Amino acid sequence: MNDIRPPESARWEWLEAKVRALMDRYAYRNLRTPIVEPTALFVRGLGEVTDIVEKEMYSFEDRLNGEQLTLRPESTAGVVRAVVEHAMLYDGGKRLYYMGPMFRHERPQRGRYRQFHQIGAEALGFAGAEADAELILLADALWKELGLTDVRLELNSLGQPQERKAHRAALISYLEAHVDQLDEEARRRLHSNPLRILDTKNPALQTLVEGAPKLLDYLGEDSLRHFETVKAILDANGVAWRINPRLVRGMDYYNLTVFEFVTDRLGSQGTICGGGRYDYLIEQVGGKAAPAVGWALGVERVLELVKEAGKDIPDLAADAYAVVTDTAFLPRVMGALQKLRAAGVSVQMHASAGDSMGSMKSQFKKADASGARYALVFGADEMARDAVLVKSLRDGSGHQVERSLADLSEWAATLQSSR
Ligand code: ATP
Ligand code: MG
Repeated sequence: MNDIRPPESARWEWLEAKVRALMDRYAYRNLRTPIVEPTALFVRGLGEVTDIVEKEMYSFEDRLNGEQLTLRPESTAGVVRAVVEHAMLYDGGKRLYYMGPMFRHERPQRGRYRQFHQIGAEALGFAGAEADAELILLADALWKELGLTDVRLELNSLGQPQERKAHRAALISYLEAHVDQLDEEARRRLHSNPLRILDTKNPALQTLVEGAPKLLDYLGEDSLRHFETVKAILDANGVAWRINPRLVRGMDYYNLTVFEFVTDRLGSQGTICGGGRYDYLIEQVGGKAAPAVGWALGVERVLELVKEAGKDIPDLAADAYAVVTDTAFLPRVMGALQKLRAAGVSVQMHASAGDSMGSMKSQFKKADASGARYALVFGADEMARDAVLVKSLRDGSGHQVERSLADLSEWAATLQSSR
C-alpha cells in the first residue's frame, strides 16, 4: 500500500482529469460506491473458485454486529449492487464510471500492490455488441489521449453458459489426460472450475494450456454473430485486435466478449486494462436480469506506462511567489494575495520566521527555487504607494513592473500560466 505524494500525485490528477473529460464525451456518468461491501456480494458475484475470493480478499467481521465485510477487491460487484438497490435501470440502460482504491492481498511486486487503484467503465442494460465496442473504443481513445502507443488489444469470446458446458467437458478430459503435468492449484480446480486453469499464472503450465480445447470452437451462431459485430466495429475504427483463446479473465461473471489491453513494456505485469460482458451478474446479485459490459484499468500500471513513454510530471510551480520585507505588512499583503487567488492566480506565500520575514536575498532564493515565474515584492516603498513590484524570475530578463493594488483585477490575468 503506497502513499502517493507530490509531485507524483500531480500525474494522478492529470490522468483523472483526462478520464473525466473523456467519460463526459461518451456520456458515462460518475458512480461512487462504498469501499466496504458484504463479503457475500463478492463470493456470489466473482465466484468461489477464483484467485480473488480464494486468497486475495481482505475480509473481516464487524465486531459491533457480526456482519461479514470485505474491502472491495474490484468494483463491478459494487456497481451492480448499487444499480439493483436503487433500481437504476428502471428507465433504460446506464453508462457509469468510477475511480478509486481496490484491495487484494497479493504478493507485492512491480505493478502489483495490496491497495491499488482502478478506473472502470460499465454499460448496464445494454445487450448489443455496439456497447462492447463502444467501451473498447473509449479505452483506445484514452490511450491516445495519454500518449500511449505500445498497447495492444486481445480479444476472446466466452460464449454463453450452455456453450461453456460442452467446452468444459472437453477441457476436463484434456486436462485429465495430462493430470501429471498440473500443479496443485490446477488439480484442485480441475473439477470445480477448470476454465480458471486457462488463466494460470504458472509459466510451467503455459504449453499445456495452449493446447487445450478452445472455447471459440464451441460457440453457437448467436454468440459468433455478437463477436463478429464487435470485431467489425473495431476494424471500421482502426482498432487492431488479436484473438487470445486463453483469455478467460479472473472472475466467473463474464460471458461473450472478454478483452485485455496489454503492453510489453511493464515486465510480467503487462495487463493494463481488462473487461468484458457480464449478462448474468445482475440477476445473480438479486436484480431483474439485465445485460451489461464493462472494463477496469489499473491506474498504477497505466501511470507506469505514461512514465515509460517519457511524459514529464505536470508543472507544479505556483504562478507567483510573494516576497514581503516586513511582518507589519502581512495583513494587507495577505489581503492582496486573496484577491489574486480569487482572480485565478496561484500564489505561494513566503514563510516568515515568526517575528521576521528574513532577508530579501533569502526570500529571493526561495522564490527562485519554487519555480514560480514571478516574484511579487511587497516592500516599504510599494506598500506606501498601495502597489506591488512584479518581477520576472524565469525568463532571465529580470524585467520588473510596478502594479497598483487598487486595479489588481485588471492585471491579475497577466500572471496566470496556462496550466
Ligand atoms: P492480473 O491477471 O494481473 O492479476 P486481474 O485479472 O486480476 O490482473 P482485474 O481484476 O481484471 O485484474 O483488474 C483490472 C486491472 O487492474 C488489471 O488489468 C491491472 O491493470 C490492475 N490490477 C489488478 N490487480 C492489481 C494489483 N494487485 N496491483 C495493481 N494493479 C492491479
Ligand atoms: Mg489478479
